[in-house]
Amino acid sequence: MLTKETYEQFKEKSSEYFKKAGIVISEEEMEKFQVAEFGLGCPETIGLELVVYVNTDRCCAKELVLFPHQTCAEHRHPPIPPASDRKGMDGKEETFRCRFGEVYLYVPGEPAPEIKAEIPKERAEYFTCRHEIILHPGEQYTLAPDTLHWFQAGPEGAIVSEFSTKSMDDDDVFTDPMINPQLKRNI
Ligand code: ZN
Repeated sequence: MLTKETYEQFKEKSSEYFKKAGIVISEEEMEKFQVAEFGLGCPETIGLELVVYVNTDRCCAKELVLFPHQTCAEHRHPPIPPASDRKGMDGKEETFRCRFGEVYLYVPGEPAPEIKAEIPKERAEYFTCRHEIILHPGEQYTLAPDTLHWFQAGPEGAIVSEFSTKSMDDDDVFTDPMINPQLKRNI
């Protein structure tokens, strides 16, 4: 469980990152600042910070902040089956665009001989993708729906703009069985 103290600390640190990157976030938007900690209790290592600009039935945009070597857990966005209270839809398509720092993104494919990310030791077996994409400011990558992925910031941290179809938290599938999708936020 995330403590209020950690939340406030991460919020303040994230504001500094936004300033450093020249990204203006209004006070009102900052009120809705979120920390995704995945229920693992180690948000400094496996977690990320975010501000959601928009999330409608058709599109979603947000800024993600990652502190140095902070990591987003491996997951995918599967198709959503129809249910009594909703229509079915394709899984979420995501584009990550680096705005500040350096991002190491991993997807299925030819593994890199030596990856740049530091795999979180305590949960190492749940980071399986090794095909490496390195993003610098102004570089971006689009993930097809249902593609397994995880990512980590480089040594100076990172800001990533994410553009996607609708974000549906509860339906994401994580490799780590300890992760409860209902405890994570919109990634
Ligand atoms: Zn994702």
